[in-house]
Amino acid sequence: MPMPSFPIYLLIEQQIKPIIEGKIIAEIKCEIYHKGKYSWHGDSFRNLDLIKNTKILYADSNFIVTDSDYIIEFGYFHGDLRYFENISDVNINPNKKSTSDGYVLTFCFDDDSCMTLVLYSWSTRFSVNKNTYNVDKITVIPKSQIEVTDDAVFTLEHFKNWLSERANMNIVENCSTVKGAFDIFNPVMSYILLISNIHPRTKTVRLSDAEIEKLYQNIKNIVNDYRSGVRVCEFNDVFGNSVAAKNDVVWMNSNMLGKPCPVCGTAIEFTPCAGTKMYFCPHCQVRK
Ligand SMILES: [Zn+2]
Repeated sequence: MPMPSFPIYLLIEQQIKPIIEGKIIAEIKCEIYHKGKYSWHGDSFRNLDLIKNTKILYADSNFIVTDSDYIIEFGYFHGDLRYFENISDVNINPNKKSTSDGYVLTFCFDDDSCMTLVLYSWSTRFSVNKNTYNVDKITVIPKSQIEVTDDAVFTLEHFKNWLSERANMNIVENCSTVKGAFDIFNPVMSYILLISNIHPRTKTVRLSDAEIEKLYQNIKNIVNDYRSGVRVCEFNDVFGNSVAAKNDVVWMNSNMLGKPCPVCGTAIEFTPCAGTKMYFCPHCQVRK
């Protein structure tokens, strides 16, 4: 699963895209900083030579496409993708340990700037593969089955079709990051379900067209708010700064348990679902 999830990936993308697209990857350094019990990451780095001296045609928070027709895909923890104006400024000291080896990858660009990526557990990923996207046409490389930031993909029709194929599943499973539906962070998706008046464990088949449209519109509105900068969530940016939230939605996570619902004031409860806990308002979100 790509990490981090929306809205953080969008904020990282907005920073990294304009600064590295068009640059030449002059060198890639792969350094091990922690020796763990397992070394599976080692295999991920086998094609590194194929992207040396290539130009970056497309970049976002999880993908880089180069003019040698290779695509670099990476998944990492929040704060572990960094950019430095000059390679001599690099000041990361990863102390993150796990059962697998820990690596720092440094992409050195032709203008002496660089990007570093820390990879250190089963959840982080890196690979270099043949590109299957048409670079002249791509605007967004999908990070999940329905890429919510791509207007051409996330249409009401596509959303309805996608749900109808999974009608017997709980709506939260169809919408949560757990099953890979959308790459929206669970606490943010739970807020969207709250304002849509949908209980997380409602069977998808029981939702009316009007409810599905309301859910779709709320996802769309929240996504657009983060895209346009109306909302910002707290995140660690690629320059190493902690960016403060602005008009952020209420993240419906364990911090909200027993606290008043942001809409009606009823105490927030949780329900076990999809291998985790989903936080909801028993007044606003009645299970159908
Ligand atoms: Zn409520």
